[in-house]
Amino acid sequence: MRRPIVAGNWKMNTTRSEAEELVLAIRTLAAAAPTEVVVCPPYVWLELVSRALEGSNMKTGAQDVYWEDSGAFTGQVAVTQLVGMCEYVIVGHSERRRLFGDTDEIVARKVAACMGAGLIPILAVGEDAGDHAEEVVRRQVTTALAGVTPHPLVAAYEPVWAIGTGDAAIPEYAQWVATVIRDELRIAGFDPQTVPVLYGGSVNPENFPGFVAQPDIDGGLVGGVSLDARKFATLVEQASTAAY
Ligand code: PEP
Repeated sequence: MRRPIVAGNWKMNTTRSEAEELVLAIRTLAAAAPTEVVVCPPYVWLELVSRALEGSNMKTGAQDVYWEDSGAFTGQVAVTQLVGMCEYVIVGHSERRRLFGDTDEIVARKVAACMGAGLIPILAVGEDAGDHAEEVVRRQVTTALAGVTPHPLVAAYEPVWAIGTGDAAIPEYAQWVATVIRDELRIAGFDPQTVPVLYGGSVNPENFPGFVAQPDIDGGLVGGVSLDARKFATLVEQASTAAY
């Protein structure tokens, strides 16, 4: 059975003291759950958050990474700099694709760099409003995994129209897209049954049980609600209950 995962993407939120308070609250409220909990703070708080989670079974993740190991890349952070600091890296988030020009090919370089360094990419894919979901998701997964051999990986289906809008996908629809993702994982040479597939997009404690009840959805990639320790801990609990 795949272990459920709930990953919180704090995006560009939290001051230093807020980050400290939030991670300690999450640690207190969610530490006992069998779910894999991943906290993805802004880079500047990554070390602080990692230290705060030491001795717990919770993990940290970066929100993005650059694919070169070092050099004249002002403002970028390398996978080599993340090793030892976190276990996961979100790659291909729609905000990176839309606001910062991350193409499918750039996402592929980032995935390969993460895998080469032993970090686990959380590969985010999903269609925008009006796009054909299956076509977009198949293309994004195929391109992202072209040229890599199977390594630990998490996939996240995040329809762009559902992110931060309060308008989540219908769980059965997300389940169908998750099966499309698994099919592309198989085509890319991965064992699709070993790769957790998450849903993301306006997840909250009211709608999350419907997602984790789906056979191919193994948890959530959560934005807004990850900034509320109590609600986030509820999602962690719901993911555990659904899986065990
Ligand atoms: C996200 O940004 O990955 C996300 C899912 O955001 P939200 O939960 O706020 O929709």
